[in-house]
Amino acid sequence: MGKVIAIANQKGGVGKTTTAVNVAASMAATRRKVLLIDLDPQGNATMGSGVDKFDVDATVYELLIEDKPVKDVIVSNTTGKYDLIAANGDVTAAEIKLMELFAREVRLRNALAPVRDYYDYIFIDCPPSLSQLTVNAMAAADSVLVPMQCEYYALEGLTALMDTIQKLASVVNPALKIEGVLRTMYDPRNRLANDVSEQLKRHFGSQVYRTVIPRNVRLAEAPSFGTPAMYYEKSSTGAKAYLALAGEILRRGKEQQAQAAS
Ligand code: ADP
Ligand code: MG
Repeated sequence: MGKVIAIANQKGGVGKTTTAVNVAASMAATRRKVLLIDLDPQGNATMGSGVDKFDVDATVYELLIEDKPVKDVIVSNTTGKYDLIAANGDVTAAEIKLMELFAREVRLRNALAPVRDYYDYIFIDCPPSLSQLTVNAMAAADSVLVPMQCEYYALEGLTALMDTIQKLASVVNPALKIEGVLRTMYDPRNRLANDVSEQLKRHFGSQVYRTVIPRNVRLAEAPSFGTPAMYYEKSSTGAKAYLALAGEILRRGKEQQAQAAS
């Protein structure tokens, strides 16, 4: 059965989009069928997948607001070998239009139903806010992956975010789980980052991924070439880290399945 993972953190610039694009490509490279949904009007995940956001036939707007069937909004010629539902500035309007619609929190969940089991993994790149779009992602997802930078106030922000996710989930999706907390842009030479990382592990235990995403310039450069890092420089530490993360997500998935079966 397919798994839907929302990549969310209300803070901007923590590595949500970088994680979405690179984990989708890494997962697709393991021969899983993967769909990436760009839910951010900035369209960075779309561009980073080699798809011109100004030249797409349909976006998540048509899916959420105009009831266009999901098969008609999927783009399949991405550089990362996964399928994509694109976003661009039009999606800003979806935010407002959603307010007028019936069952507005579950529009994405309902729209994805026909393809949910076709894909092994569906990743959702959330905008940096707790907007109606993010609520739709939380309602559609099985779990949330939270990327974070190990900075001074990170732990406080994370505790608040977890609270919000829990509250939101209790209303729109009681089965929602925390998939994991991912340390991004990590610099092991930075003492503060190490301290925060230790606190994080104490606080969130096994929810923190073992895989750490290092600060790596190739990860920052790859989007300007419209490609995930593994097809830009496969041997880069960034590309390798996201491949390792995909492996860890797969292992956790198997463990969870085994637990559920026993
Ligand atoms: P978000 O989607 O949370 O706003 P992004 O993924 O867009 O965050 O990342 C913010 C900026 O940091 C981007 O310019 C991106 O290229 C860069 N970046 C993200 N992760 C890394 C990393 N591990 N190493 C270096 N730069 C990174
Ligand atoms: Mg982003």
